[in-house]
Amino acid sequence: MRPDRLILSLLFCCFLTVVAVGQSSVSLLKQAGDIIESSPSEAQVLVQKALSQSREGHSSSFFAEAYYLDGWSHLLLNQSIRGTKALERGLPYVQQSADTSLLLDYYQQLAHGYLLRNNEEKFHLYDSRYNVLAQQLLVRKKQSNLDSLNEQLVAEQELSSSIQQEAIQSRQQVDSAQELLTLQNEELLRQNLELTELQMKITEADKQKMEVELAAEKQQKIFQLRTAASIILSLLVIGFFLIRYQRKARQRELAIERERSDKLEQIDKLKDQFLANTSHELRTPLNGIIGLTEGLIDRLNEHRSGQSELSAEDLDTNLRLVVASGRRLGSLVNDLLDFSRIRNADLILRKKPTDLPSIIKVVLKVSEPLAKGKSLELTNDLPEFLPPVLADEDRVMQVLHNLIGNAIKFSNSGEIRVSATHINDMIRVEVQDNGIGIDSEKLQDIFEAFQQADGSISRSYSGSGLGLSISKSLVEQHGGKIWATSVLGEGSTFYFTLPVSTEAAVESELSISELPVSTLFPTDTPDFHPEPPGQASINNPDQIRILIVDDEPINHQVLRQHLRSPRFEVHSAMNGAGAISLIREAEIRFDLVLLDVMMPGMSGYEVAQNIRTTFLPSELPIIMVTAKNQVSDLVQGLQIGANDYLAKPFTKDEFLARLSTHLNLQRISNATKRFVPTEFIRTLGKETITDVQLGDFSSQEISVLFTDIREYTSIAEQLSPADNFKLVKSYSARMGPIIQQNRGFVNQYLGDGIMALFQHSPADALQAAIDMQKELGKYNQEREAKGREQLRVGMGIHTGPLVMGIIGDELRSDPAVISDTVNTTARLEGLTKYFGANILLSEESFSILNTAFATHTRYLGLVQVKGRRKPMGIFECFAGDDDNLKELKCDSLGIFSESLDAFLKGEMDQAASGFREI
Ligand code: ADP
Repeated sequence: MRPDRLILSLLFCCFLTVVAVGQSSVSLLKQAGDIIESSPSEAQVLVQKALSQSREGHSSSFFAEAYYLDGWSHLLLNQSIRGTKALERGLPYVQQSADTSLLLDYYQQLAHGYLLRNNEEKFHLYDSRYNVLAQQLLVRKKQSNLDSLNEQLVAEQELSSSIQQEAIQSRQQVDSAQELLTLQNEELLRQNLELTELQMKITEADKQKMEVELAAEKQQKIFQLRTAASIILSLLVIGFFLIRYQRKARQRELAIERERSDKLEQIDKLKDQFLANTSHELRTPLNGIIGLTEGLIDRLNEHRSGQSELSAEDLDTNLRLVVASGRRLGSLVNDLLDFSRIRNADLILRKKPTDLPSIIKVVLKVSEPLAKGKSLELTNDLPEFLPPVLADEDRVMQVLHNLIGNAIKFSNSGEIRVSATHINDMIRVEVQDNGIGIDSEKLQDIFEAFQQADGSISRSYSGSGLGLSISKSLVEQHGGKIWATSVLGEGSTFYFTLPVSTEAAVESELSISELPVSTLFPTDTPDFHPEPPGQASINNPDQIRILIVDDEPINHQVLRQHLRSPRFEVHSAMNGAGAISLIREAEIRFDLVLLDVMMPGMSGYEVAQNIRTTFLPSELPIIMVTAKNQVSDLVQGLQIGANDYLAKPFTKDEFLARLSTHLNLQRISNATKRFVPTEFIRTLGKETITDVQLGDFSSQEISVLFTDIREYTSIAEQLSPADNFKLVKSYSARMGPIIQQNRGFVNQYLGDGIMALFQHSPADALQAAIDMQKELGKYNQEREAKGREQLRVGMGIHTGPLVMGIIGDELRSDPAVISDTVNTTARLEGLTKYFGANILLSEESFSILNTAFATHTRYLGLVQVKGRRKPMGIFECFAGDDDNLKELKCDSLGIFSESLDAFLKGEMDQAASGFREI
């Protein structure tokens, strides 16, 4: 073996030995450390063993550890001296090893050992060293902790900054990625757009393609439709035109039909009107002739038998009327014949050269009587020379008669001027007047047959409406023309032309004195005026008073002839207005009215209607006497309120028979009226007592007047029953009419009492009461003269609801008034004796009165009347008191009302002194 290798091997063995020795001492120490607290003596053995094996090669930390365990185990075994020594020994080793934590243990054990040995000094020494070191160690530890924390913080900061860095980086990356994404998106969008555009283009192209296809298809369809439509349209147009044509044709037909029917209707109306007017024109004179002749025969008979005188004058007047009526009739018959001839083209003209001025002169002369009674001047204004005309003399005369006659008929004053002019080969004749004129609308029509400007039943002028149409035909048959100009209200001018004759005129056969009857004007009647009303005979109350209403004097004459008997008092009215004023205003109460239908201004129908507003058919019968005899006229007349209808011509016997029937009925009605007042019947809505049925009733607001003779029983006691009756009869006869005059009616005479009803106003009742008091004054004067007792009558007036009706049974009925109003009125009348008043009014009546009565009325206060729940205000009216008393009451009105006020307020002294003064 080589020496170096040997050294090395030795060194290595030493090292191993040291390690092995070291190893075992250290493990001993370790074992001792583990068991020291549980078994300090064994640990001591182990430590001694380790120390005993220790060599110089052991480190100070080994010895520090070993002495520490040795010292500690001694202390644990309370061997404080040995323990402190061992520790003192190990102290330098520990200081060398710089094991501070073991040093701290040393100090602690030493302090403990010296404490056990009661060595205070050393205890404090090692205790303080222990504390200082422990502090140092703590500080050091804290420092190291702080350092490590700092380090950690730094490390964490670094980590966080690196993380932030990373975050920023990743953010940047994200941003860039986003940017990239946006770019990519935009790109994508752009591409999408492009794609969409492309698609749209494709769609557009498709659409265009489709449109093209559709258009083609549509074109085809339109073409088909147009073809179909044009066919349909053509058909429709054809149809439309056909329908329109048909409709138009139908409309035309309808219009023609309507026109025709209108015309027919008009013609029918005209025909009716013509018939009515013609029959009037025919029947009036016919009736005159028959009536007057009948009358004359009767009077002749009376004359022969010596019953009455028939004077020559009377005879003359009547015969003249008969002749005039006959002429009128003849003229109309001529017109009718001419009309019929013209229609049948059967009128032959005897034309010859005729001198027109001489014909005009004759016609003007014979027309003069027509203008009698009118301030009319007939002027012949012909030129000096006029060539003759080629005409039928009679027919020209007829035309002139018609024109001049009309001019006179339709004028009341002024001038009728006839002139003529030669124009070329015609002569134009003009008849001019200042009369009523013609409405421009009617100017053409009047030349038509039956046409009249006023053809109504209330027309003012008679006539048939044929004259001008005949004149027209006659003129036209001569080759001339006829026309008129007119201004309504100012006058008319009629023109006609006739051809001039080339030959000289043949001398006329006409002479005025020899004129045939037919050419004389029809209404050439003698002067006749009916007797004015009231002068017919003495107004005898027992006579039957008859009113004749007719515009034809001849009718008056005929009817008067028929009524020539002392039984009748005949009055006349020439028109409706006159009749109404006679009936309403005259004192006369007529018993019957004979009424013509066709009258100027106001027709008979209107007059009848007016009469019926006041008089029931049973009160004043109306007999229509007329030439209108068609059923419709008859019905209309009866509906309006006529009692009967007498058609002209009638005989005297027929007339008198009808008259007597109606007068009898009227008499019966008058008799019943005395038992059931007309007002009562009217209130029930009936016209005659025969219409009234059991159970009929009507209710209305009415004023009741109740009167009673005061102290009648004591007056009656002194009289015989017959005288009693006479007193009541005479009293009632005086009072009843006063009630009627004041628009009231007596509902009942109750012996000495009267109950009257006033339907219009309490003022009527009050006025009646006042008038009755005045009449009583007069009656009392008469009684006083005869030495009889004075009567005083108390009167009560009250207004309120009241029922009037028919009560009873089938065999016996009575008109009755049922109302509380009647009871209250009776009680009010009863109060008159307490108040010393003659007339007492309830506040209900007083409140509706006008002020006319205020000066003679005074308030008496409130009174509780039996049967009424509330007290009633009452008023005294002293207008009917005698003049002296009335004056005193008037003068004291002021103080009376003051005293009454005081009394009502309970101021009795003041009231008493006031009343005492009165
Ligand atoms: P009548 O006179 O009989 O009614 P006409 O044929 O003579 O018949 O006359 C027809 C109508 O013409 C008359 O009813 C009257 O309305 C109107 N008329 C004729 N002449 C005149 C005149 N001069 N002034 C006013 N009206 C007249």
